[in-house]
Amino acid sequence: MPPCHPLDVAKQTLAEKLPALSVEQRQAEVRLLVEAVFQLPYSALLTKSADFFTTEAFQPAWQQLHTLLEDRTIHRTPLQYLLKQAWFLGRPFFVSPAVLIPRPETELLVEAALGLITPSAKAEAPFRWADVGTGSGCLAISLALALQEHYPSVQFTGIATDISTEALQVAQHNADELKVASQAIAFLLADVLTPLDTSEKPPVGLDLILSNPPYISPILAPTLAPEVLKHEPAGALFSGDCGFEVVRKLIIQASIALKPDGFLLIEVGSGMAKTVADWAVTQASFTVLSVWSDYAGHERFLTLQRKG
Ligand code: GLN
Repeated sequence: MPPCHPLDVAKQTLAEKLPALSVEQRQAEVRLLVEAVFQLPYSALLTKSADFFTTEAFQPAWQQLHTLLEDRTIHRTPLQYLLKQAWFLGRPFFVSPAVLIPRPETELLVEAALGLITPSAKAEAPFRWADVGTGSGCLAISLALALQEHYPSVQFTGIATDISTEALQVAQHNADELKVASQAIAFLLADVLTPLDTSEKPPVGLDLILSNPPYISPILAPTLAPEVLKHEPAGALFSGDCGFEVVRKLIIQASIALKPDGFLLIEVGSGMAKTVADWAVTQASFTVLSVWSDYAGHERFLTLQRKG
């Protein structure tokens, strides 16, 4: 038998076993998997002949490639959990099945938060913010680093909450790896903004809260891809009351934790924004500043402001 090139093996396996992936997705996955396993850039892999990979030295890499392809195709493990890495706003975040894999549209929340931090808000230093349900820490860490970079002389203090101890450990690890100043984010085990350790006080007087809470109705579970349903943490995906339970809790607790005129930025599922906006106005003391869309044009984000 002629020797096999790892790129061909990966391409063929993914094409046969995951035919639903688009050609672009498949190419991206092949590239990332093979680069990670053989520790060579794609350009180098392309120019090597199959013979190059037959040496004894590559045996462990071949073994690893087969295991990863099996995990990916049979167990439907998401690529990011296999590589233990997901990119968010240009930075690599460590991810494990304890945390949601950051999604590209969630990056828009950080940009929106930065847009709200106006010079007048900066003047009232320290500016206090919180990320509720931090997961991998992608939102909190990206915001803290952007603030450090844009306003080096302004004092900001952030709180990143999660109900899962494992998720907080991942977020703390990412903050250390990505060199967030240790005083920039306090990690807090909490149900939304209520600390689980009753000796801790819930945060108050915040200027801004951002959150990508769990918002999928459990009824929709059978419609999710196996990568999501079997592997991502249920607590990060699902929320009772048709997906609204955690969002409602967030709005109530945020209306207490925020300063008058403080901002609440929330990501929600498609078709939920109007209900959430109505609820924030009628059941809590918020004004709706804007409802805005993701890259696909679906209304997925709300910017709310606590009434003064
Ligand atoms: N804030 C994290 C993210 O957006 C986790 C969100 C969650 O667990 N629902 O990826």
